Amino acid sequence: MEEERTPGGAVERVLTVFLSGAECPFTCSFCDLWRWTIDGPTPAGALPMQLELVLAELPARVADRLKLYNASNFFDRRAVPVEDLPRIAELAQPFATVTVESHAAMIGPAVCDYATLLSGRLEVAIGLETIHPVAAAQLNKRLELDRFDSAAAFLAEHDIDLRVFVLLGAPHVPAAEAVDWTVRTVEYAAAHGAGQVAIIPVRGGNGELERLQHLGAFVPPTLAQLEYALEQCRGIRSAVVTADLWDIERLPGCESCRPQRVARIQTMNLSTSPEPPPPLRIPCPACA
Ligand code: SF4
Ligand SMILES: [Zn+2]
Repeated sequence: MEEERTPGGAVERVLTVFLSGAECPFTCSFCDLWRWTIDGPTPAGALPMQLELVLAELPARVADRLKLYNASNFFDRRAVPVEDLPRIAELAQPFATVTVESHAAMIGPAVCDYATLLSGRLEVAIGLETIHPVAAAQLNKRLELDRFDSAAAFLAEHDIDLRVFVLLGAPHVPAAEAVDWTVRTVEYAAAHGAGQVAIIPVRGGNGELERLQHLGAFVPPTLAQLEYALEQCRGIRSAVVTADLWDIERLPGCESCRPQRVARIQTMNLSTSPEPPPPLRIPCPACA
């Protein structure tokens, strides 16, 4: 459970449910979601049962938004069996908005079919990751920019919301340019209709990133860079831009000012003010 700012300026309660099912067919170099998947296709009935078990533990109106993250693509029929969609939609009935994630290549009529099953709005979260041309080609994501553009246009045309994930510290982006390319990618997402953009710092640990780090192609991003990238996006008004704070304690940073930096990021995540909050004890005596 967490709070999140909406494009309208309200703060809503969000429930994220992590569902286990089939592995994603893409193999992006920065991704470790395969750790939460199973071998083979998702058995019919498995996802509704997981969702039922989670919701049974919670009060009826626990959140405004339900995020269903299945560590893969919601519109991949191997990952989400088509016969389960009506029951998943029925379970999502108490929520005003449902967010699912998908690779841009899987956006098409199936998205509209699912939107019509829902009583609330549908939002699709797409990983744009980076528009750095060299890095984007090396991520193994197989996502051309025009593919993202057409997916974004398709969602807009069908009145389906778009959330975009943008990486900070994508492999093959020079470390000195990491914040700059993150901000440019956020601007690109906002210009293509994203209502929500989440900046996600790349976190090591999947083995491939450690190999790339050894080759000098990946430098783990820092907490200070995340704070700065978010600050640089304050001027964007057409989208809510937030920094992802999941596992934030794993991000390299000065331990003296870590709590203040995390609190400042949290303030920016929830505040509608275009002005960033004042720096707290910065420069920090320990890391200045
Ligand atoms: S498309 Fe998404 S889930 Fe699949 S490997 Fe890439 S980042 Fe991971
Ligand atoms: Zn410090």
